Amino acid sequence: MVSPRYTVRPNIEPALELVRKYNIPGPRYTSYPTAPQFSESIDREALRAEVGRDNLDAASPLSLYFHVPFCESLCWYCGCTTVITKRRTSAGEYIGLLEKELALTAPVLNPARPVTQLHFGGGTPTFLPPEEIDRLATVIHRHFKFAPDSENSVEIDPRRLTKEHVEAFRRLGCNRASLGVQDTNPEVQLAVHRWQPLEQTAEAIKWLRESGFQSVSLDLIYGLPLQTPESFTKTIDDVVALNPDRLAVFSYAHVPWLKPAQKIFDDRSQLPSTEAKLTMLMTAVAKLTAAGYVQIGMDHFARPDDELAIAFADGTLHRNFQGYTTRAGASLYGFGMSSISETDGAFRQNYKELPDYTAAVEAGGLPIERGYLLSLDDRQRRAVISDIMCGRGLDFASLTRRLGLDFSTAYAPELASLADLATDGLLVRHANRIEITDLGRLFLRIIAMRFDAHLTKRPGGFSQTV
Ligand code: SF4
Repeated sequence: MVSPRYTVRPNIEPALELVRKYNIPGPRYTSYPTAPQFSESIDREALRAEVGRDNLDAASPLSLYFHVPFCESLCWYCGCTTVITKRRTSAGEYIGLLEKELALTAPVLNPARPVTQLHFGGGTPTFLPPEEIDRLATVIHRHFKFAPDSENSVEIDPRRLTKEHVEAFRRLGCNRASLGVQDTNPEVQLAVHRWQPLEQTAEAIKWLRESGFQSVSLDLIYGLPLQTPESFTKTIDDVVALNPDRLAVFSYAHVPWLKPAQKIFDDRSQLPSTEAKLTMLMTAVAKLTAAGYVQIGMDHFARPDDELAIAFADGTLHRNFQGYTTRAGASLYGFGMSSISETDGAFRQNYKELPDYTAAVEAGGLPIERGYLLSLDDRQRRAVISDIMCGRGLDFASLTRRLGLDFSTAYAPELASLADLATDGLLVRHANRIEITDLGRLFLRIIAMRFDAHLTKRPGGFSQTV
């Protein structure tokens, strides 16, 4: 496998030209095929057989995901699957449903499989009161055996956090946390309905560190209303001063046809221009790398001694629904409404609405709404797209070996389609490999789209790629 090397330093002016040229809607490729391909008319018998196959090997690692959908108030930019409520009893009722879903899933899982990754996402996992977190911990540890070095992470909303929440997730085994920050500018925070003083974020980090969390990651978003390159520069300075281990700098995904609350930004007068967004991204890259962080793949940054940075450097980085990860080869089993499970040959997604999810679990069936069975071609393209999204570029010999076909012959049309991207300096074509440049790293989604066999069947529906 080829280690990622970036040889062309990006420059703002040509990059702006390219953004105008290539800023089209496209997937984020946390999976391939992407979720719009999932179907309700999936062959359920074939899905069951796939899960059976997946559980034959007792040594095969597991990655677990628990979706906690509740938030007390809606952030207007939010693209997550949420249930907005202040009703605290929702937490206990939902843990009861997760208990039932785990009991329903247990018979199809090989109990000897080691868990190497656990993630709590949402919504807001810290909506759960500490005693409900402890209840969930008991049932998770009853069903699963954890590897000693398992990476167990939780998404945290500093606005609703107490020290008791932190300690409860630590007792459960969490050792990594990611905190939503988005922007530290009070005007931007008011414009997006998310008021979060910097001191609150700093206090959350202090509690996490004191409690023994090994890694703290901060999430930022560029492209929000009232943001300017200058204000976002101040946000970057503010978060660097908090000394996180990792950062994620996401582009705001404006998809009001999927997320109606975003219609509040529809006149776009408060949204920054594409040029301003690109300047924010490039400023973030410049400032974070100057502060000692390594840029990972598309939008993540980590300290050079962080295992994510090490995996990026040695070419073993992977991408899944939670973003970039070092834990390769684990089957993903998701629990809770809207969660997605992924095994080598299939995706399954739970009901996206709480009443449907609740009804299915209460009726005693697995709450699967839709799914997808991967063809051989899908699996091969998944490997190619993963190499692109992880910044590795394409090593023809490695892909030929892993895919079991002559890569440059089988993908000749796709490789030929990269000519304009090479001319524009996004990649360099060598005799036996494609190298992605620093500039190209801003356009990984565009490069990956050239290998997506499903894209022509469902154009549109995605956010802009930059
Ligand atoms: S807290 Fe997170 S999940 Fe909840 S509404 Fe805000 S952005 Fe969305």
